[in-house]
Amino acid sequence: MPFILSEYHSPGLSVNWTANKVLFHKQSDFQEVAIVELEEMGRALVLDGYVQVTVEDEFVYNEMITHVPLFTHPKPEKVLIIGGGDGGSAREAAKHPSVTQVDLCEIDPMVIEACREHLPEMSVSYNHPKVNVITKDGVKFIKDHPNTYDVIIIDSSDPIGPAVDLFGKDFYSNVHKALKEDGIFACQSESLFYHQDLIKDVHEMLKGLFPIARLYTATTPTYPGFLWAYSMGSKKYDPFDRMDVKKPEIEARYYNHDIYKGCFALPTFIKETLGLKK
Ligand code: SAM
Repeated sequence: MPFILSEYHSPGLSVNWTANKVLFHKQSDFQEVAIVELEEMGRALVLDGYVQVTVEDEFVYNEMITHVPLFTHPKPEKVLIIGGGDGGSAREAAKHPSVTQVDLCEIDPMVIEACREHLPEMSVSYNHPKVNVITKDGVKFIKDHPNTYDVIIIDSSDPIGPAVDLFGKDFYSNVHKALKEDGIFACQSESLFYHQDLIKDVHEMLKGLFPIARLYTATTPTYPGFLWAYSMGSKKYDPFDRMDVKKPEIEARYYNHDIYKGCFALPTFIKETLGLKK
């Protein structure tokens, strides 16, 4: 029997999904974990009632949160992904020829269990020889790995529940310490239309830590407002200096090197929000 999965975003905005089947539904120590079959977007991971990823458009988000920071670094080898329990971003990171190690640090073992069984398109990465799946709180894990990684990616859920501290100043400064002297950091920073305050706060915090702070975007129908934001902090390499640098070809459905050039082009209202030159 189809049912409506309703996501509350604000007094003025809720997203209603028609769902046909519940494939997995349990309460973990951290959150409510479900896999549901959505009429429009196929199988989806839902945490605490919010759709995290769907098989129909996961490629956009997982390619953009990985390939943009990884192609900004000239030779990334050691990569850390915090969150990303569906396995999609690890799948993309492992594609990079120079990458030798991808540590996937997911707080909730039940997310791994659910995705291993019901989202094989993404969880295939768990068995990739480059990928280590670590079930730990990323806030704690990061403190034990100073000067370790070339690229750190925060593929987190929204800033609620276990992910709240993944959007905080202390965490970002520990990320800065865990990166090598020429390291790069990227995170998802929510909707360009509905979360401008968060995007501005994250950008300000990154500007305070990194000599280079950038914002890029991509369109993902699963997320409210579609136009999703990604924040980047870099210790040395500026994506604006790497636009025309030849980069290895990579098999992808959304990402390509023209998208790399275009994704940093920001609309005027966001430049104003971030206090950037128009
Ligand atoms: N693409 C999704 C989005 O933008 O909403 C995120 C996908 S991924 C499934 C998010 C993962 O972050 C979840 O599996 C969640 O359990 C994990 N997570 C949340 N807080 C965490 C923390 N403190 N440490 C590690 N993983 C965390």
